[in-house]
Amino acid sequence: MTTLNEFSRCVAQYDPHALPVAAAQAIVRQWAEPVAAVERVALRDALDRVLAADIVSPIDVPSHDNSAMDGYAFQRAALATGASDSVHLTIVGKALAGHPFAGRVDASQCVRVMTGACMPADCDTVVPQELVECSADSASIRFAADAVAAGANRRRAGEDLARGHAALRAGRIVRASDLGLLASLGIGEVKVRRRLRVAFFSTGDELRSLGEPLDPGSVYDSNRYTLFAMLRRLNLDTLDLGVVRDEPAALEAALRSAAANADVVLTSGGVSVGEADFTKQLLQTFGDVAFWSMAMRPGRPLAFGRIWSGERPGVGLPALFFGLPGNPVAVMVAFYQIVREVLLLMSGATPRPLPTIHATSRQAIRKHAGRTEFQRGVAEQDAHGQWHVTPTGSQSSGVLSSMSEANCFIVLGHDEGAIAEGERVAIMLFDGLI
Ligand code: AMP
Ligand code: MG
Repeated sequence: MTTLNEFSRCVAQYDPHALPVAAAQAIVRQWAEPVAAVERVALRDALDRVLAADIVSPIDVPSHDNSAMDGYAFQRAALATGASDSVHLTIVGKALAGHPFAGRVDASQCVRVMTGACMPADCDTVVPQELVECSADSASIRFAADAVAAGANRRRAGEDLARGHAALRAGRIVRASDLGLLASLGIGEVKVRRRLRVAFFSTGDELRSLGEPLDPGSVYDSNRYTLFAMLRRLNLDTLDLGVVRDEPAALEAALRSAAANADVVLTSGGVSVGEADFTKQLLQTFGDVAFWSMAMRPGRPLAFGRIWSGERPGVGLPALFFGLPGNPVAVMVAFYQIVREVLLLMSGATPRPLPTIHATSRQAIRKHAGRTEFQRGVAEQDAHGQWHVTPTGSQSSGVLSSMSEANCFIVLGHDEGAIAEGERVAIMLFDGLI
């Protein structure tokens, strides 16, 4: 078994006392083993689940060539009269969606077709109805030969999805359009990965659960609610283990029980420098855990590794472990920047980097090179479609209201220095993330 320390030393820029965000991401990514179990679920239940196998299209969609317009279907040979001429065709029947025309059509004839109707066997072109002139007895049509190109307005069989081709890939998180797409293939059940199970608890003698009185110096535990919500957004199974006091025996029992019952264990609090010592000692007995100081703000202290439900590393059931900082904003930043991708990988998904766009800062922002900062900002688009962003007031990692007020992270890169008013900055919008 490679230990985390052995592995980490090989990662570029590994410095446990000032670990760049990218280096931490590279390390934790390597520790993510996708869950192996697969289950079959009914189509509707597949929403937000991760496909366990490629979906190969069993049919062509659409199954037949069909008309893209309301109009008249005919043979392209009828256009060969020359551009200045008009084309005159006799109507020999009609085809509606679901009601094909079964007869034959020669070059002097056409079939009235509605959108989605099967193309009559001999026809390859459709002239839209608004481009034709109908005879008084509705028996024939006339239109300019250059009004329509040969082959126009015909949708080809298999144009949307071709039989035998992968319509969706394994690792895809099923979205609304995918449910419709699967239905269009006649697929009513799909194989998805088992949901990842994530246990979490808060640590701290000062924490009170909802319903308890707040005595002097105590605070309500908010991290468990933020974590619950962020995990639910990823459609994961959650196991809330409550508040655990800063006592080695209580902490050990909670961690070992969490490892026995979950794939991943998240805790908050107790990893900052002053508190880390006893946690560090404890985790060494049944875990392989590194304590990092991240070159990141907020979210500096972070513990990461593996723990086991047994009394020693390698004994009992394993779980991946993240000891997140205690400060409420730091928890969210560490979750999105370090934990989220790992949870998706372990769920069997193929995560894409969170999209960033650029905005003009309405204020100067203080920043030192050598750490990545995730400030909270309010972004808006002006009348010309340009994005502007204003940092929310306090950027303290304890001020959770700054997250609620904000609609984006202002991402200030590791090597970036101070930002002047009017300078461009990267932002990561919360919509779709939170
Ligand atoms: P710690 O990392 O344990 O030193 O905690 C840092 C700060 O975050 C302290 O002010 C804690 O009171 C606060 N904190 C820790 N855990 C929570 C929590 N679950 N909910 C709200 N605040 C917390
Ligand atoms: Mg604490």
